[in-house]
Amino acid sequence: MTIYRQTKILATLGPASNSQEQIASLFHAGANAFRLNFSHGTHDDIRNLVDNIRALEKQEGQPIAIVADLQGPKLRIGEFEGGATTLEKGQIFRFDLDKRAGDSSRVCLPHPEVLKVLEEGALIFLDDGKVRARIQKTGDDFVEAEILSGSKLSNRKGLNVPGAIVPIPALTEKDKKDLAAALDMGVDWIAQSFVQRPEDVADARKLMAGPDGKSRAALMIKIEKPAALACLDQLVDMADGVMLARGDLGIEIPPEDVPSVQKRVVRDVRERGKPIVVATQMLESMIENARPTRAEASDVATAVYDGADCVMLSAETAAGAYPVRAVEMMNRITCRTEEDETYQRMMRDAHPDTIGNSSDAITTAAYFVAQDVDAKVIVTYTTSGSTALRAARQRPAVPILCLSPSLEVARRLSISYGVRGIFDPGTADDFSGPAKHASTIVRESGFAQKGDKFVMTAGVPFGTPGSTNTLRIAWVD
Ligand code: PGA
Ligand code: MN
Repeated sequence: MTIYRQTKILATLGPASNSQEQIASLFHAGANAFRLNFSHGTHDDIRNLVDNIRALEKQEGQPIAIVADLQGPKLRIGEFEGGATTLEKGQIFRFDLDKRAGDSSRVCLPHPEVLKVLEEGALIFLDDGKVRARIQKTGDDFVEAEILSGSKLSNRKGLNVPGAIVPIPALTEKDKKDLAAALDMGVDWIAQSFVQRPEDVADARKLMAGPDGKSRAALMIKIEKPAALACLDQLVDMADGVMLARGDLGIEIPPEDVPSVQKRVVRDVRERGKPIVVATQMLESMIENARPTRAEASDVATAVYDGADCVMLSAETAAGAYPVRAVEMMNRITCRTEEDETYQRMMRDAHPDTIGNSSDAITTAAYFVAQDVDAKVIVTYTTSGSTALRAARQRPAVPILCLSPSLEVARRLSISYGVRGIFDPGTADDFSGPAKHASTIVRESGFAQKGDKFVMTAGVPFGTPGSTNTLRIAWVD
């Protein structure tokens, strides 16, 4: 069964969805790609998930992207006597380097470099923002803060310090081990958490390069720090894709700023022709309930209206009570939104300008030609996937079939708007052969029938990457 939907769904796997059967159910409900969260589970657990996804991929004959999400320098407090403590509004609470268990007056913050940069008056958020405190006093190895809200704190809760540029690299020792393991497992994307500076992305790039200098996976940067927003364009240029990680971002910046930031980030990343994933809390209440709230349905739809390539589920599919229903619901909301005339008009109106190279000129022309002749599919022959990405950037109303001799390329593209990557090792060497070949693939894809038109782009002569120079209208026979 082919689900006709342009916006993709990325589902996180976990205890609620680790068997091959469960993963297949998520796929059949509409998941196009899977995220493996290296914050949880052992490498053996994760390798098992990779094996299950690859087995499913083979069975379905459809390339599936695997995204390995690194934990990054998530700051955490230490532990408490008895596992937790209660707090009172207005009290002073101390964070220090003392490894002993904490109590109602203090706890260890095992990050000396963070303690050093915290300034008087700055806000600290703990436990996803449930506890808020303002720094009153700073020292070399401690800070004292007034508790502004929140009443409970337990072991190893996360800590966010929105104002500060934290002088720790975006890849911890754990991340480096996880990254090596993930590359070894053959994942398609690495998601890098808490990126703040171009150097962070450069560090990841260095570690991802294979012996031939080529990257062993694509790199998705997670936007969840205000510092990253300040140099967004530079970061996006260095990455292959972007995730708007609203969980941490929504603590690091005021909640009321999240919607406009989302619109800006989606627009900018789309304009640069890279996939943008909108993530976190999209159907949060479905962790426990069989139906989402109206606000959550609207949130998913808003990401689609914004023009995101992909929407993501986290705990809903990884640890929730209704993983398959969550994907089904996301599928229903995205499909319905894409049917909306307002949405179609918004996609057309936000059509990006070309940048003046031949491949961009051809893909832009393909977009308009497909519209004018009512083509059912756009076919791109591409070795690197770049033409498919340029076509996706146009947000066409019809699927983009990307025929690539690289399975890795076909897999990576499964998170991109409208792209169906097809692993196609055989390319012919003249343009009448490929049209016939493409016609068969288009028919088999189920997106068009005999007699339907399709538009195809290619680089002629075949086999030279980055040489897209030809556009053709063809018929399915
Ligand atoms: P996380 O990232 O789930 O790894 O924290 C997503 C987010 O912060 O939104
Ligand atoms: Mn995060």
